[in-house]
Amino acid sequence: MTDTAQTTTHKFQAEVNQVLSLVINSLYSNKEIFLRELISNASDALDKLRFKVITEPVLMAEGEKLTVRLLTDKAAGTLTICDNGIGMTDAEMIENLGTIAHSGSKSFLSQIQDKDARLIGEFGVGFYSAYLVADTVEVISQGAGQDRAFRWTSDAKGEFTVEPAERPEGRGTSVILHLKSDQRDYADDWKLRSLVTRYSDYVNHPIELRVERPVHADPDDDDDSDEAAEVEVAFETVNQARALWQRPSHEIEDEQYAEFYRHLTHDWEPPLGQTHFKIEGTQLFTGLLFIPKRPPFDLFDQDKRHGVRLSVKRVFIMDDCEELLPRWLRFMRGVIDSDDLPLNVSRELLQDSSTVRTIRKQVVRKALDLLDSIAQDRPDDYKEFWLKFGAVLKEGLHFEPKDKTRIADLLRYDSSADEGMTSLKTYTERMPFKQKDIYYAMGPNRRTVESSPHMEALRKNGFEVLFMTDAIDQWVVQSLDEYEGKKLVSIMSKDLDLGEVDPSEKPAEAPSLDGLTERFKAVLDGKVSQVRVSKRLTSSPVCLVIPEGGLPSHIERLLRLNHQEVPNTRRVMEVNPDHALIVHLKAVLEDSPESPRAAEWIEMLYDQALLAEGSPIDDPARFASRLTHLMESAITSTAPAPPSL
Ligand code: ADP
Repeated sequence: MTDTAQTTTHKFQAEVNQVLSLVINSLYSNKEIFLRELISNASDALDKLRFKVITEPVLMAEGEKLTVRLLTDKAAGTLTICDNGIGMTDAEMIENLGTIAHSGSKSFLSQIQDKDARLIGEFGVGFYSAYLVADTVEVISQGAGQDRAFRWTSDAKGEFTVEPAERPEGRGTSVILHLKSDQRDYADDWKLRSLVTRYSDYVNHPIELRVERPVHADPDDDDDSDEAAEVEVAFETVNQARALWQRPSHEIEDEQYAEFYRHLTHDWEPPLGQTHFKIEGTQLFTGLLFIPKRPPFDLFDQDKRHGVRLSVKRVFIMDDCEELLPRWLRFMRGVIDSDDLPLNVSRELLQDSSTVRTIRKQVVRKALDLLDSIAQDRPDDYKEFWLKFGAVLKEGLHFEPKDKTRIADLLRYDSSADEGMTSLKTYTERMPFKQKDIYYAMGPNRRTVESSPHMEALRKNGFEVLFMTDAIDQWVVQSLDEYEGKKLVSIMSKDLDLGEVDPSEKPAEAPSLDGLTERFKAVLDGKVSQVRVSKRLTSSPVCLVIPEGGLPSHIERLLRLNHQEVPNTRRVMEVNPDHALIVHLKAVLEDSPESPRAAEWIEMLYDQALLAEGSPIDDPARFASRLTHLMESAITSTAPAPPSL
């Protein structure tokens, strides 16, 4: 049987074609990144091998050196990126280089289309970037523990072929780029050297460039004939080949951190910040943690593992190690390198290890330190962070009670002070002397809470109110009942006590509304739990307040949407005795206690109080027809009569 007889042709999965065209159309001005992508893949393959060798030592010869090699052939116009890593079988090549594996990436891909092509970096277009500079790519690979090699070839026109091949070096992968005629520079040594230094210096393994240099003539040899100088082939290491996190931080430039971050995450943008630390106590470990600028598309995906990379004594062990990072810091990326964990550490062991617990504690501390410093030194950047990741960080108040105070300092809210987002600290510093508590208003959005009747008394007192419009804020206030000794109080709560009210503003004795509140109660039977005279309203006739232990209505609805059992808490209705409408209503009821029109008005007042808090009303059609009716009677009593026909 000949090799050609065994050549099989395969079509790329549709998504691959999409990625290929995205890569080619959006990265054309940034072609050189292909090299770091392919070196990054090679380096990952070396890491994977080294990890596998821990349990299967036969896969690697004693003393064998793991390297990435760059081989150029100017005459043929090729550049080869060669590694002696884990390699691939033919089936693995078909799978890895012909499909986009992760279902998350697929749906992401269908969302972005061409809208923001920069996002493509996120799910590892890595390999396909080879087509930025090559018109044909060959991949010759032999999987670890296999005795046969295969060649994958494609010109990226929808198909690829796979056939048996020779790989004299044995295990590993060679990616051979047949450079486009205008991209032949990439076979120049100087160019490769400068690209490796710029983009791939962090790589943990030696990246070697094959060079040919003349063999120096023996100085004692006085035969100075013009014989063609002999050349020798040598491999020159062009990177530092030392794990970035092991180097002292003062020697590392931001750009190098950013390159490493890119390698780790596939994120296109540089990180928002990083913290790099070495802990040398009872435990020895190094950490390099990053905060991304923008959230990954699966930040709120419950099934996605989020974590940092774990290395043990510089050997890559696993990605997304959740045990090292609490879920409420799941936006963090980075690497932890421990000297104490065993190389053959398993997930079970991780879950039950005191070493891991110690590391985790430090990770939390360092992450919070980093956030503190960004909040202090770069408030605009912190604001960006907060808008994107604040909702995740808030989970920490609930899950990490001992760090509550530190997390509370990182909270930011819009507020009625209109000074932009404020911290609790700034809020308390602004509090007028007579104000005792921290006030917040909770609702589905800023507009609703800002214009809610509950705001009236606070405005009048000059008290600032924090606007909490994120569903998770309910957790925040449940977990954090005070900040620096000041209680967090909902302005919608039943027992809102605003302290001393200026006696000239309100009559000491509220007018008695007994008959009226009784009537309200009767009409709204089953809808509200209580009706009482309000001390908080100035310009609205009524409002609904949340009884002790009750949840804001939008939170109740949200929980029900998530199929959770929520008791239907009935609100307390507060009535403003000074409001003209109430005064009139009272007069009408005194005159005719059973007036059906008065009952209708009471129902309308209840409905509009629901609307004001952003809640749906029971019977919108009825509300609308009553409103029309009211407008009709108002207009007919004030407008001139229509001209007679
Ligand atoms: P990513 O690296 O983000 O997974 P790529 O498209 O760059 O995406 O690569 C796809 C897959 O192909 C990799 O996950 C890996 O399994 C495999 N692969 C790529 N290059 C190599 C290599 N040099 N050695 C072994 N496997 C490789």
